[in-house]
Amino acid sequence: MSQRRKFIKQSILGSALFLPGVAASCAQKEDKNPSTGEKPLILSTWNHGVPANADAWSKLKETGSILDAVEAGVRNTELDMGNLSVGLQGLPDREGITTLDASIMTGDGACGSVAFVRQIKHPITLARAVMEKTPHVMLVGEGARQFAIAQGFPLEEEILSPQAQIEYDKWKVTSQYKPIINIENHDTIGMIGIDANGKLAGSCTTSGLAYKMHGRVGDSPIIGAGLFVDDEVGAATATGLGESIIRICGSFLIVELMRQGRTPQEACEEAVKRLIAKNKDIKDIQAGFLAINKYGEVGAYAVHPGFNYAKATESGNVLIDANSHFKP
Ligand code: ASP
Repeated sequence: MSQRRKFIKQSILGSALFLPGVAASCAQKEDKNPSTGEKPLILSTWNHGVPANADAWSKLKETGSILDAVEAGVRNTELDMGNLSVGLQGLPDREGITTLDASIMTGDGACGSVAFVRQIKHPITLARAVMEKTPHVMLVGEGARQFAIAQGFPLEEEILSPQAQIEYDKWKVTSQYKPIINIENHDTIGMIGIDANGKLAGSCTTSGLAYKMHGRVGDSPIIGAGLFVDDEVGAATATGLGESIIRICGSFLIVELMRQGRTPQEACEEAVKRLIAKNKDIKDIQAGFLAINKYGEVGAYAVHPGFNYAKATESGNVLIDANSHFKP
């Protein structure tokens, strides 16, 4: 599918963060209130983020809730029949079954997620129901589906979308039904937002890696990997090969780097370096990160070129190319 591409290498961070001198300069940096930030602000991954941001922005204006906004925004993508990596129209696993992952989080630590869930049109809304209506953070598979039924979510018919069926049939021929990790086959929507008062929220939803093994779950529903939000610091979300992001707890790492004084951009770049250092065959791995801090400053960075994101503020909703570790 898409135009996304490759990825890569190295990191350091570790002990330097604990040096007293570094801690002191970090504290100084965090205390200043950057003039470059904007609030409210909504960011989301890839070009499908533009219409998603538009819906999120309308919802924010309607209800004033940044949580409502990030849920409404990605619901747009979950219904986009042209998108083969989010929602029930997404590409299936290698058994031909579409399974969905999603997570949602607010800056006070509330979070919910669902993984390996079938027949649910809006997994992000189910993730929010887990957050708000259960004592748990995560429900998976049949349990998540049963919870959805109990909550009155309609169950959709389990058939592939016409385009997914075509792609799946092609894949079965060329891949001889072997599991593959293909960098072209993923592009989640992750959305993070901050309201005018500095309240943060985020959402992330995906059909995951195309032709994955049945039961595979990526980073998107893993709090701290695909999404992390903390009102004291900022928020981050991820896209790309979930396994590579889980290995470094990518979104949590970025928020913690910002807590220690990095700008969102510096934090995203450091996370990419860490990811590159911890993953083999990086030339075949794409991953990208988005971050905002509590001042409304933005960061974005990817392993390979091709990652872009949508940014909505009072002055508009624009698509921006992110920089990457490896150059075009
Ligand atoms: N991160 C998602 C996953 O690995 C896929 C993607 O971002 O495209 O499931």
